[in-house]
Amino acid sequence: MDKQYNSFLKNYIILQEGEQFCPKCKGKGLVRIKNATSIGAKFSLKCDKCLGDGKIDWIEKVTGKKVKYIGYGVGANTIK
Ligand SMILES: [Zn+2]
Repeated sequence: MDKQYNSFLKNYIILQEGEQFCPKCKGKGLVRIKNATSIGAKFSLKCDKCLGDGKIDWIEKVTGKKVKYIGYGVGANTIK
């Protein structure tokens, strides 16, 4: 069975029908970012492709991962 340890969720994720591991973070949920202002420094950020889930389904692959709506009302989609 396809599974991958997801560092963001701190758990293993298992692919369901129609899903695949995120091509950006390879299922880990985090991506390494090089800090341009500090040579050599790296840190991990939540993957912006899968939003930390580590996997995407075929719809999300086409349209992009949906940001989970957290109910701030008007203006919520301006929050980055
Ligand atoms: Zn990802």
